[in-house]
Amino acid sequence: MNGREIHVEFAPGLVLFVPRARPTGTARTTTDGVSTLGHVVESLGVPLTEAGTLLVDGREVAPGYVPTGGETVSVRAVRHPQEVPGAPLRFLLDVHLGTLARRLRLLGVDTAYESTDLGDPALAALSAADRRVMLSRDRGLLRRRELWAGAYVYSTDPTEQLHDVLDRFRPTLRPWTRCTACNGLLEEATKEQVADRLKGGTQRSYDVFAQCTSCGRAYWRGAHHEQLEAIVERAMSRGTQDG
Ligand SMILES: [Zn+2]
Repeated sequence: MNGREIHVEFAPGLVLFVPRARPTGTARTTTDGVSTLGHVVESLGVPLTEAGTLLVDGREVAPGYVPTGGETVSVRAVRHPQEVPGAPLRFLLDVHLGTLARRLRLLGVDTAYESTDLGDPALAALSAADRRVMLSRDRGLLRRRELWAGAYVYSTDPTEQLHDVLDRFRPTLRPWTRCTACNGLLEEATKEQVADRLKGGTQRSYDVFAQCTSCGRAYWRGAHHEQLEAIVERAMSRGTQDG
């Protein structure tokens, strides 16, 4: 190939995607004069969901810009909070992110998740159809063009994952309003209404009840909620709630 060389500098948070850019955060590559900058960045390893502003010789360009060689390209990280225009903020999580899915639902964030692997094409189609932000650690999935929007999940630890998603997207938090099992909305219920789904001890000890409008699962405030209360408290104290 007779391409000419371009010099690409990556934001520190993106270097993990580009082993050849270590340790300096820069990589050299050649351009064929036809490929877009978006394609070049992606082929170097960075999912486009993670690339923020692109600069060519200090000037902002669109991902469709076609480098001709000789340029210095700077790839910035996505800005936080990230705007996702055009639809209410809602998420779709891949099969590996079940704990994160339950925690987002606990906080009242609209979160679709299936515990069976639907496969990348079906997930991407679902993201597009429902206008959901696809969260995944699978770069191949995040590369799919059909996605409505996507974001790479950087950590394998659910606590850090939750922190990162809240920091990046700042979703409105409404704790205790969604079913952690199915994402359905909860409604208040009396003890009598949910009696058939409660064990004897629960029935005697607790008074605050809710039930899922989708799957009927019963909820109550009890001692076993301590860990969940801590998750909610921590999320709310971040100051990300606005409603
Ligand atoms: Zn439910």
